[in-house]
Amino acid sequence: MQDLTEGVARFRRDVYPARAELFARLAGTHRPTTLFISCSDARVVPELITQSEPGELFVIRTAGNLVPAYTPGPDGVAASIEYAVAVLGVSDIVVCGHSACGAMTALAENHDLSGAPAIAGWLRHADASRARTTASGAEKVGALVRENVLAQLANLATHPSVARAMAGNADSTVTLHGWVYDIPTGTVEELDATGRPVPLAA
Ligand code: ZN
Repeated sequence: MQDLTEGVARFRRDVYPARAELFARLAGTHRPTTLFISCSDARVVPELITQSEPGELFVIRTAGNLVPAYTPGPDGVAASIEYAVAVLGVSDIVVCGHSACGAMTALAENHDLSGAPAIAGWLRHADASRARTTASGAEKVGALVRENVLAQLANLATHPSVARAMAGNADSTVTLHGWVYDIPTGTVEELDATGRPVPLAA
């Protein structure tokens, strides 16, 4: 905790004054361009990977970057998606998986999750991801990470606010993107509709 309080002091002393104009503008404006959905994994830092400024990314982070398919009823992930798309009007949504994902590894290697019922229950949202994955052995985790991104994009499209914007029936349209971040190399691949990685257009 000491690290965090020292970090806050450093932010207030060194970082904030240099960006005072930006923060003053952001104080009354919230207009992010992108909804970025990534894993909660501490090694995946959306703003760092994309070199985004404060105010640019609306971020949802869940274990395994899972997006439950829409069901009526109170749901924090669904509420955040709806707020980003229908209220803030983001133009793009990125679902970003990553290498060595603990959630995907647990599924790929059939870890015993009987002592972690909340995790086991949550990971059921990756059932379709598992069903899509045919790779085995050393390839399996990476393949599941990619298939999971595609499956979560499909889940995302079941949310009414997203469906409306994708169909062009809302004030702003939205485009979905599937990414995979590789921790050891720092590279990001974009997945095409079939799950094939293609270079990210700069
Ligand atoms: Zn992860």
